[in-house]
Amino acid sequence: MFPNKLYINGEWLDTQEMIQVINPATKNVIGSTPNGGEIEAKLSVDAAYTALKEWSKKTADERSRLLLAWHRLIEEHRDELAEIMTMEQGKPFAEAKGEIDYANNYIAWFAEEGKRIYGETIPASSPTKRIIVKRQPVGVVAAITPWNFPAAMITRKVAPALAAGCTIVLKPSEETPFTALKLAEFSQQAGIPKGVINVVTGAPEPIATVWLRDDRVRKLTFTGSTRVGKILMRGAADTVKKLSLELGGHAPLIVTANANIDKAVEGAISSKFRNAGQTCVCTNRIYVDESIADEFSNRLAERVANLKVGNGFEENVSIGPLINDRAVQKVMEHIEDAVKKGANLLAGGNPLEKESGYFIEPTVLTNVTDDMTCMYEETFGPLAPVSSFKTIEEAIERANNTPYGLAAYVFTENINEAVDISEALDYGIIGLNDGSPSAVQAPFGGFKESGLGREGGHFGIEDYLEVKYISLRLN
Ligand code: NAD
Repeated sequence: MFPNKLYINGEWLDTQEMIQVINPATKNVIGSTPNGGEIEAKLSVDAAYTALKEWSKKTADERSRLLLAWHRLIEEHRDELAEIMTMEQGKPFAEAKGEIDYANNYIAWFAEEGKRIYGETIPASSPTKRIIVKRQPVGVVAAITPWNFPAAMITRKVAPALAAGCTIVLKPSEETPFTALKLAEFSQQAGIPKGVINVVTGAPEPIATVWLRDDRVRKLTFTGSTRVGKILMRGAADTVKKLSLELGGHAPLIVTANANIDKAVEGAISSKFRNAGQTCVCTNRIYVDESIADEFSNRLAERVANLKVGNGFEENVSIGPLINDRAVQKVMEHIEDAVKKGANLLAGGNPLEKESGYFIEPTVLTNVTDDMTCMYEETFGPLAPVSSFKTIEEAIERANNTPYGLAAYVFTENINEAVDISEALDYGIIGLNDGSPSAVQAPFGGFKESGLGREGGHFGIEDYLEVKYISLRLN
């Protein structure tokens, strides 16, 4: 069921060492993935660089047909891919199926968008000159992706890169390698030529170091923590690579006195508890107008107490396990720190001892203040801290008071308030009465330390293109 070889230059390669992969719902080893290193990293760039010549010369139509063939295979094998994902990552099976569909939409969307990589002609100042602007593929791309969305974080990069005419070397998270390798298997079956997509699994530093130093790699695209993003940004400086960084977040969710409380509670549930709170756009802090804070908190706690936690293959489970023991510890530290500093536990608050995996109860805290760790550090787990505010100005100031700037949410039925608040928030994505704003055709990305560049939509292909200006002098 699990592919356990590296995919380089259209071939499946073994390594001597392997890394075990664990199902976080059971803590059982479900398989192992190759521990690729410097040699494999270099081989992958050799393959991608060789393949670039032909791939970049194909017409957009030819590349589109191959991407759509890949899309069809993923669609046909959707449940198989989702099963692999639930086993290695833990998310509920229904959510995993949703992620495969979402991931696959990027392939279909960019297969079409590749046909719209337009150039320009610009009026010249001289009658004997012509100014022509073209867009061409940036070259070999290196992609490094996290474990929380084992398929979507990959296709968001691979699809626009291939549509633009680039080739790619990919290192998925060592925690979720199987979804990535299975996607590569389907790309091979779809007829995407050898060397166009290469997947190397293994410990991150040796692989990343080779890719960073190799000047044939012209772009690095990374999704993961801000800490690692900064390391990669420094490493990319020596060869001046183009960079896309999708990094951490600390999303505020503001509920004003004019909000529809039912909508706000549902928005908080979907933005906070999807993927057990392990998303970069996850609500991390909830600010509620003091006049409705108690009502909102009580209703949220009621909803949260009814969320079913368990193995993602069980019926009606909406919260799966966290990825590992460190993740459970971090959430517990955030809860304990807040309670010690005066927060009230309204729901949850404990690891689920009856379960065999890394489970934790979805938790609601009230009376939370900004000095509590959960209010400024990414929790990456099912903890919803609620704090009240007196004025909209105060809510905006507190919401913006963070080095992050990925997603923010606002709930209000007043149009003026909605516009004012969304314009004042320093965030790349605003969910206005909407707890799940991600969409393939929309630009996804953050301000400040949440990253550089955008994925999705026509913005998402720009980062894989270089602009070339041709100055033509006529006789
Ligand atoms: P992580 O930064 O630990 O790992 C991400 C990837 O980087 C993995 O493939 C990992 O193997 C690799 N990596 C780790 N150390 C490295 C190093 N020194 N050099 C090169 N590569 C290295 O992040 P994670 O724990 O896998 O994912 C969670 C983080 O990702 C959270 O901070 C979350 O907010 C962020 N994230 C952001 C987005 C976004 O679109 N902005 C989306 C999903 C996740």
